Amino acid sequence: MDDDGMLGQGTFELDVDLLQGIDLASLTEPRLHQLLEAGFRARLAERKRPAPEPRVARAIGLNTLQGADEHDLREALHVLAAWLRSPTETPSPAKRSRFDRPEGTGQLPVPRCLTTALAPRACGLCSDPIKTGDEMGRFRPLKPPLDRTFIPMSWLCRHCLFDRREQPRRRDLIIRVFHHLLAGSAVGLNPKECAVLHTWLDNPAIRQTTAWQLDPLDATMVRLATSVAEDKPTTWIAYPTALTALRSMAAAEPDRTETRLLQDVLQHITEWEINPSGIETRRYGTGTPYRQQILRTTARQTRLSELGGPFFLHRSFDPTEESSEGADEEREDA
Ligand SMILES: [Zn+2]
Repeated sequence: MDDDGMLGQGTFELDVDLLQGIDLASLTEPRLHQLLEAGFRARLAERKRPAPEPRVARAIGLNTLQGADEHDLREALHVLAAWLRSPTETPSPAKRSRFDRPEGTGQLPVPRCLTTALAPRACGLCSDPIKTGDEMGRFRPLKPPLDRTFIPMSWLCRHCLFDRREQPRRRDLIIRVFHHLLAGSAVGLNPKECAVLHTWLDNPAIRQTTAWQLDPLDATMVRLATSVAEDKPTTWIAYPTALTALRSMAAAEPDRTETRLLQDVLQHITEWEINPSGIETRRYGTGTPYRQQILRTTARQTRLSELGGPFFLHRSFDPTEESSEGADEEREDA
């Protein structure tokens, strides 16, 4: 989108119409900062107190906007625009503690904050719609060394913040597989995810697919059932097995709603395998940066390629586990 025409003026006031005419998703950090500064000036011209910047920061669960990434800056703009629209309604602070979270192997790290959406958008992980007024939140930044492999997720729906490992949907499972493979690790599943996968695969039509016939998953089915029975914190599914599962599920159930997502994942996996755009392995190697670059230059954009990754989707702390598997992932950083 060409936003220069709208924003190129030297001085302007951030009014509601201006923000509504802008596709915030298309703007990068310098432009977002420029808009925010204009908005703060507009607010200060009207009222000096309370100081606007800390209020806006707190509304998105931060102490300050310094160092805020583009996802936070976009949200800050929504808060500021709402405040300019209703100058007497000071933005309320986001919730930052005392969250009600599942216990056990379905637990996710404590989010950074929970707030209500001021504008509709899609969840930054599962892509479900988040409507105005719905709860949404973000996780805290990852600590080293995780932050070298994984990129931060944007604003997520309530399910993805709290419940996706306790009440996993088939979609959550597919998304999990995708990000593990993008990060070059085996796929780590908790007992609830193992149960979803077991139920999904336990289908005669899936057993009859070519993918299953070539690489039968009977032993995997036993492992999944055992992990459910023993409530094993993490069960690791190797890459070839995960691929067979995806291929057989996609082939057996072409009409299910998850099939499109399965096909998207399989498309990206195929591109990683055949490197259709000729990504230089001398420059990118053969690991995560290579897969990320192929994802960026994909022949057909998907929601997964738009969001990028890999995302750190968390795994349960398992005191009995050997340290060799999934060595690039750290224990819970909560
Ligand atoms: Zn979601």
